[in-house]
Amino acid sequence: MGYKTLIGLEIHVELMTKKKIFCNCKNEFGGEVNTHVCPVCLGLPGALPVMDKEALEFGIRAGIAFNSEIEKEVRTDRKNYFYPDLTKGYQISQADLPLCKGGHLDIEIEDGVKRINLERIHIEEDTGKQLHTEDGTSLLDFNRCGVPLIEIVTKPDINSAEEARLFLEKLRSTIKYIGISDVRMEEGSLRCDVNINVIHDEKKIKSRITEVKNLNSFRSAVKAIEYEEKRHKELLEKGENTDNETRRWDENLNETVIMRRKFGASDYRFANEGDLPAIKIEDTWLHEIKENLPELPHEKKVRFMVEYSLGHYEADVLTGSRELAAFFEEIYKHVNDSKLLSNWVMGDVLRRLKEEDMEIEALHVSPKDLADLILMVKDGKINNNTGKKVLRDMFESGKSPEIIVKEQGLIQISDEGALEEMVERILDANPQSIEDYKNGKDRAIGFLMGQIMKETKGKANPQMVNKMLLDKISLR
Ligand SMILES: [Zn+2]
Repeated sequence: MGYKTLIGLEIHVELMTKKKIFCNCKNEFGGEVNTHVCPVCLGLPGALPVMDKEALEFGIRAGIAFNSEIEKEVRTDRKNYFYPDLTKGYQISQADLPLCKGGHLDIEIEDGVKRINLERIHIEEDTGKQLHTEDGTSLLDFNRCGVPLIEIVTKPDINSAEEARLFLEKLRSTIKYIGISDVRMEEGSLRCDVNINVIHDEKKIKSRITEVKNLNSFRSAVKAIEYEEKRHKELLEKGENTDNETRRWDENLNETVIMRRKFGASDYRFANEGDLPAIKIEDTWLHEIKENLPELPHEKKVRFMVEYSLGHYEADVLTGSRELAAFFEEIYKHVNDSKLLSNWVMGDVLRRLKEEDMEIEALHVSPKDLADLILMVKDGKINNNTGKKVLRDMFESGKSPEIIVKEQGLIQISDEGALEEMVERILDANPQSIEDYKNGKDRAIGFLMGQIMKETKGKANPQMVNKMLLDKISLR
């Protein structure tokens, strides 16, 4: 047994509520600087916060989706620290009593399903933003001050960069499913910090936990974890150890850089937020939120496995986003063949999305058009290879498969007489191939098939041609 890596994640998610968490300012990304502000979110003396009901509801939705226990009485605390974009000098957050306790999220790893347990989910307010100009001045935009956040904290159950990536993807899709955030990392509505150390059971050594901040993409999270994993092991191997410190990922240097020594809870001097009374969560309201929650990813996955007889993996991929799942179900209404359909969607469609780095919503191809294409292949109007070619054209032009097939004259040749004539002619012209085939060289059939496809520009019905070739060779 070698080293084991222990990773815990802290994920901040900006909630897409209509208003900010403690005032009536609009919660909106972008907007002209310092236009969505008021005395409350600017922290002016005498201004009092009031908890936004929707923000609380969104936090509870997350708790239900991640199988947490929801606190019956919500309390808030002041987390004191000085920061230029935090005008109050403290952030309203939650210390000992988070909104949601525990919980878990299951990920699909190679060996099967792995459960990642959560420590907590709490609600808090976001800080403003600093804009650093080229001439060296720093400007402050308070539009983000008071935007509601949830912070999801996992237990150190993640053991590799790959597991962290799978977890983050699952988390993002779940949050999108329940409609509480647009989870756009590039706009900062999903932010992730990593806590990592390594342990060697036999040698009885372990490194101290490093926190890595400023990870603005899943890719940088993965790279930072791999970098730290290596750094920790190397230090231990040299008989040294890591420091309890906070580092940040530097995209240009491709390494983590020290920011400061890690703060402990005591550094923040948490104290009860006296301006906000405790809020009781009524059972009826909790029940209502549960009832109105859309089908969750794991529920949808199980339904896909049962309803469409799909395997674990297929069902997991196809329910990866609500939109992809809806796309699949819409096509299924026309095609009614889940195996065939999942092959097309998981093969050509997802490959295309990956290549173009886009979401299913951005695809030019409608479910109905894709259904028509699959049916054309299934019914033998065009062959499989032509079908794939037509799909590529559909991605580019957004045209319907009928139009593409018509424009390019791609209808499959299944006319027995025409094919037979062609097969005879090709066989006459290639006696050596017949000889080769009879001597056990199966590849000769592929060559003959290639000749026919060349002549028909790929439109011959391959099953028919294959059968004819075999039948006719056996007669020669
Ligand atoms: Zn405000």
